[in-house]
Amino acid sequence: MATEKTTLPNEKRVALFSAEERLRYSRHLMLPEIGPEGQQRLKAARVLCLGAGGLGSPAALYLAAAGVGTIGLVDFDRVELSNLQRQLLHGTGDVGRAKTESARDRLVAANPNVDVHLHTCRFESSNAEEILEGYDLLIDGSDNFATRYLANDVAVFARKPNVYGSIFRFDGQATVFAPHLGGPCYRCLFPEPPPPGAVPSCAEAGVLGVLPGIVGTLQATEALKLILSIGETLVGRLLHFDALKMKFREFNLRRDHACPVCGDSPRITAPIDYELFCTGEVAVSPAANEIDVQTLQQKMSGPEPWLLLDVREPFEFDLARIEGANLIPLGQLSARLDELDREKEIFCLCHGGMRSEQAAKLLRSAGFPKVTNVAGGIDAWSEMIDPNVPRY
Ligand SMILES: [Zn+2]
Repeated sequence: MATEKTTLPNEKRVALFSAEERLRYSRHLMLPEIGPEGQQRLKAARVLCLGAGGLGSPAALYLAAAGVGTIGLVDFDRVELSNLQRQLLHGTGDVGRAKTESARDRLVAANPNVDVHLHTCRFESSNAEEILEGYDLLIDGSDNFATRYLANDVAVFARKPNVYGSIFRFDGQATVFAPHLGGPCYRCLFPEPPPPGAVPSCAEAGVLGVLPGIVGTLQATEALKLILSIGETLVGRLLHFDALKMKFREFNLRRDHACPVCGDSPRITAPIDYELFCTGEVAVSPAANEIDVQTLQQKMSGPEPWLLLDVREPFEFDLARIEGANLIPLGQLSARLDELDREKEIFCLCHGGMRSEQAAKLLRSAGFPKVTNVAGGIDAWSEMIDPNVPRY
């Protein structure tokens, strides 16, 4: 898509590749649908991968192997041991490194001809348009709603295809959002983000390790087709994959003319600071009735009586716990309220702060007077207070 049309004969086009490239890409060069012209297009293409995690791993690896000339990676995370079950860009020796750096090493090892650009930062309203400017298309491998909505909006503004993928437990989805190519955008389907805590993330719900491998590979396929202008893309179609039943289903998607970003009279015309209203694993700044882990630590050593209520599952409690916590999984809480002392201040805790927020709401509506949610959960506690508590 970044290549201009020329009328060079194929022999001359082949000569533009080095002997090494001619061998490396020989299986592409012999396909009539790709050939030297297509391979040149791939070389000139610039693809931005949002996230160097589960979806970004196969997507970026296959694009690098295919000879996509420029690959951008946006990620601010570091590699954790619990990532390795599905994020094949990273190895055991990379634990603790920046994901972007670990990913770059793996991509360059796969194909040293690829130019890998690192954006080791959050993708935010302040930088999203500037980052996307250097690329032709976007692969959304993010795992939170703030990034997903922002990616959608800036891709619509820039008229660049957004190759979308998402995974949850055993189910995956993929499509291409591209209103400028006649399809819908993400907001045509879901105009506003869900309220915080309404949808659990992978960290809270779990995911089959191979699932992002399948969905991320679908995203790579769509990106290559868009660059090469071949085949029928997923514009206007959502592909749903059920790993347990081993079934693919397809849904037709339509543009919504009342869509707030790509509709006839759009309300959203500039990037929004999504974290103001859309939190997930991303934002851990405390809201009302919430405290951060530093405040929790102070209160636990203060004079007021307290109860630390951990609402995670027993296997999580076995993996990592804060000394003095009481375990009642969220699903059992409403039946076990009489085990809790109403006189004490109750601090609700989970892995990332979402289940515990639901627990806090439940306790307040049951009349408990002093209930506080711990923002960021035990994950923030391990990161900021006690590194001896394992992260998972
Ligand atoms: Zn739309």
